[in-house]
This record gives sequence, C-alpha cells and structure tokens, in this order.
Amino acid sequence: MSLPTRRGLIMGAVAAAVAGPAIAKVPPVIKLPGDVQTGEAATVMAVRTVSAAVALTFDDGPHPRLTPVLLDMLKARGMRATFYVIGDRVRRHPGLVQRMLAEGHEVGNHSWTHPVLANLGDQSVIREMDDTTRAIYSVTGKVPVTMRPPYGALTFRQRHMLYHRRKLPTILWSVDPQDWRRPGAQIVAQRMLAGVKPGAILLAHDIHSPTIQAMPAVLEGIVARGYRAVTVSELLGWPKWQTRNFVLKAS
Ligand SMILES: [Zn+2]
Repeated sequence: MSLPTRRGLIMGAVAAAVAGPAIAKVPPVIKLPGDVQTGEAATVMAVRTVSAAVALTFDDGPHPRLTPVLLDMLKARGMRATFYVIGDRVRRHPGLVQRMLAEGHEVGNHSWTHPVLANLGDQSVIREMDDTTRAIYSVTGKVPVTMRPPYGALTFRQRHMLYHRRKLPTILWSVDPQDWRRPGAQIVAQRMLAGVKPGAILLAHDIHSPTIQAMPAVLEGIVARGYRAVTVSELLGWPKWQTRNFVLKAS
C-alpha cells in the first residue's frame, strides 16, 4: 500500500482562512464540538480529580529541531507530557518518538495527514488512525491508547465509532492558548498558566518556536502552583500507556 502524502498540516486551510494580526482576546477558531460532555468515556476535555495534576499535550510533531529542545526542558524538570504525533512525521523522525517513550512521555495518535476527520467516512478515519498507530508501533513497539483529532474536529458519532472499534478515546482539551497563531511566548505562557487547575488538559504545538520559548515559564509556573505535569493516561488514572495492551485489528 502506498502511503498517503501529508497535506494540510497545521497551517493548512483552516489556519489560512483566519490568518491575520494576533490579538489577545479572540473567540476560539478551533471550536470544540458542541455536544461534548465531560465525564463521557469516549470524549475527554478534562479530568475530574482533586489531585493537583495537569496534562501537557503537544500536537503535530515530532519536529526535528524543536521537539528535542522541549524534551530537554521536560527532562531537566522531571516532567512528563503527551505527544499527539502525526504518523508521517513519526515515519520521518523515529528516533524522537523512541526518545519520548524512553523518557516517560505518552505518545498518542493525531492522524496520518492531519485532515478534518469530521469530513471523512468511517473507513477513511479508521485508516488515518491505523496507519499512524502502525507507524508508532513500528518505532516503539507500543500502540497508542488515546487519540486527538486535528482541529478537535470529530463528530459525536465518530468519537463513539473510534472508541468502540479501536478503543481510542478522543482527548480534547480544557486550555487552548492558540499558540499556532504565534501571539508571542509570553502570551502563550499566560494563557496556559491561567488554565492550570486539577485535571486540566493543556493544548500546545511543538512545531512553533514561540511555543517552545514559552515552555520554561509554563513548566516553572506549573511547579510554582504546586502542580505536577503527568501524561494523559496518568491523569485518567490508567496504567502507563505503554503497559496497556490493545490489538490493532485489520479494518
Ligand atoms: Zn494538529
């Protein structure tokens, strides 16, 4: 089978349509589905917990230059994160995905071509997931146990379809700093830290320099508030992601 070409990566059609000067207060362009309810097994925006813990999540990598810098920052502070990686980038940068695993991070599925999955049929959605799961498995020997849809765009029916067919809960977020608009490192850090509370899931992208520049302040701010940064699986109270066993079924 020939691999699909990567298209419409993060700054694709959706971002291009809203390009313009970054302003501090903007309505979310990447809208979460309106039917999301917290606590539903197939869809997670945040986790109800009394623990002072948050999940840092980084989408769209791995990036050959920026992701190692971020991994260094996390390692120096003993903090863990979850990386929602793009399958085609896993194929091109396998060593970085292996390093994520070795350093205690979680690797999740963010599709192969970064499409608007809500526009695709079930077979195409399954193929986006399976191709990426295979890529992650081929370099780490482990299967991702959570997924994040590009742009947060997955319908209620699709989320349940994936949950039942692939045991993949859809992980959305409770904090979106809109870092892909490049508002500046300081604003990214402010927005992320403003959302730190028990069970929060923080969204960011490890493919933008200002996001990486914001991270020392974000990581230190999390610690200063008395919080731990854990993986999504840990926040959900699951065993470590790499210890869970899921069978990759042929579709
Ligand atoms: Zn993305």
